[in-house]
Amino acid sequence: MAAFNKITPEIAAQLKAVVGEKRFFAGEAIDPGYSHDEMPIYGKFFPEAAVDVETTEEVSGIMKICSANRIPVTCRGAGTGLVGGCVPLAGGLVLCTRRMNKILEYDMDNLVVRLQPGVLLKDLAADALAHGLMYPPDPGEKTATVGGNISTNAGGMRAVKYGVTRDYVLALTVVLADGRIVELGKSVCKTSSGYSLLHLMIGSEGTLGIITEMTLKLIPNPLCDISCLVPFRDVESCIHFVPRIKMANLDPQSIEFMDADIVTSSAAFTGNPIFPERVNNEDVGASVLVTFVGSDEDELDQKLIRLGKIAEEAGALDVLVVATTATKKAAWSARSSFLTAIEADTKLIDEMDVVVPVDKIPAFLIYIRRLGEEGGIRIRNFGHAGDGNLHIYCCSNDLEEEEFKRRVKIIMDKAYTKCAELEGQVSGEHSIGHAKMVYLKESVGEDVFRLMGEIKKVFDPDGILNPGKVCDESLAAGKE
Ligand SMILES: Cc1cc2nc3c(=O)[nH]c(=O)nc-3n(C[C@H](O)[C@H](O)[C@H](O)COP(=O)(O)OP(=O)(O)OC[C@H]3O[C@@H](n4cnc5c(N)ncnc54)[C@H](O)[C@@H]3O)c2cc1C
Repeated sequence: MAAFNKITPEIAAQLKAVVGEKRFFAGEAIDPGYSHDEMPIYGKFFPEAAVDVETTEEVSGIMKICSANRIPVTCRGAGTGLVGGCVPLAGGLVLCTRRMNKILEYDMDNLVVRLQPGVLLKDLAADALAHGLMYPPDPGEKTATVGGNISTNAGGMRAVKYGVTRDYVLALTVVLADGRIVELGKSVCKTSSGYSLLHLMIGSEGTLGIITEMTLKLIPNPLCDISCLVPFRDVESCIHFVPRIKMANLDPQSIEFMDADIVTSSAAFTGNPIFPERVNNEDVGASVLVTFVGSDEDELDQKLIRLGKIAEEAGALDVLVVATTATKKAAWSARSSFLTAIEADTKLIDEMDVVVPVDKIPAFLIYIRRLGEEGGIRIRNFGHAGDGNLHIYCCSNDLEEEEFKRRVKIIMDKAYTKCAELEGQVSGEHSIGHAKMVYLKESVGEDVFRLMGEIKKVFDPDGILNPGKVCDESLAAGKE
């Protein structure tokens, strides 16, 4: 167990001197939500104190005090993570970025924006749009902070065309564990200038440094878009359709997969069935929701015609164009709320966010369904079919929590082994936190896992930054 110290009244006074009385919280004044993220099944852990920071200098001041006194610090954005990443496993201090929420400046000549980490994704998206620009990463949870998105390398529904958060980060200001402030990256289009510490910081989940400012790349907002739903009789034919869309050079923005079960859950949740369960007198086994973007309607119409042709060849039941702005909005908001729909009718829930080669999706889904049936656990899934990223939810309303966890562990152990056999990775976009560390270790192997730990030590020799996450096993004994 790492040897951390408690926040004494003297240390609390020093922390208050940095942020002021009003932005320092202890005891009952701490938001109880800080003990968990959006996956509470991974346990609740309470900090001793919390601070709301507003500037890079404040973060530096806080880190200097915590480093000198060996106080663990867990950075928190909006707490929408799904792997227990922002949860203070070792107590100590929660450093929350919610007040660092300013979009600082646009550089319209270079199409970049400079902002603070606590800006919400939805606010950046709306503000960029008002400038005629688009921030392409589009994870489902729009109330996450952009700093959280960078720290988890969030993906989302537009990754198939545009890539993930990592592809849009040009530069970061980072406060290191000992309070030093460093600038990583520059606002340039390419670089080949030594080790990319910028890219090491992206996806590092608050374990290597605290991100306090970001420079991000934007693109001109596409002038028009079109979406359509392509339903199939079964999962296999649906997934085999996905590479055909890509091979036809149609360059879709999104290809989202949904099976019949999640469509039923979504309809029950919204009270407004958006996605059909029967088409042409046949049951729909699975569908993909496809979007194209472009600069004129003719271009998109041409793509739609070509999509129709390959859909027919692939055995689709139909191609349903989501025509009006209202239906498009309804379809995408129903898709975005799949997880919320599952949560709404489920007492106990755990999740996997594996990524496998696209052609291996059916094999993985068939396997996981069988595991669910054998283990008496309801499985719900949906995913980003275009990039092989599957969100698998293990659900129960009947089991006691301990029995649920026992059964789910058996399923997860087997599922991650299968994922490795299929040449997949543990997480496509939700990251590792503390919940998936054991599976990361198995997946990358001892040597790579140890290298990760050695990198962590270079940045954070005393292990005070977000202890117990990603590759830091120092708290493992304490958790049992
Ligand atoms: C309904 C729902 C849908 C979702 N859909 C998607 C999706 O489509 N794609 C996807 O990728 N994720 C998705 N997520 C997961 C979640 O929204 C993302 O992981 C998001 O990036 C977390 O951002 P946050 O601000 O909530 O970060 P938090 O949960 O607060 O923190 C996440 C991690 O980042 C670290 N961190 C946060 N800010 C900083 C900072 N400034 N400096 C250093 N470290 C920091 C924390 O310590 C923690 O390790 C979804 C979640 C929900 C609830």
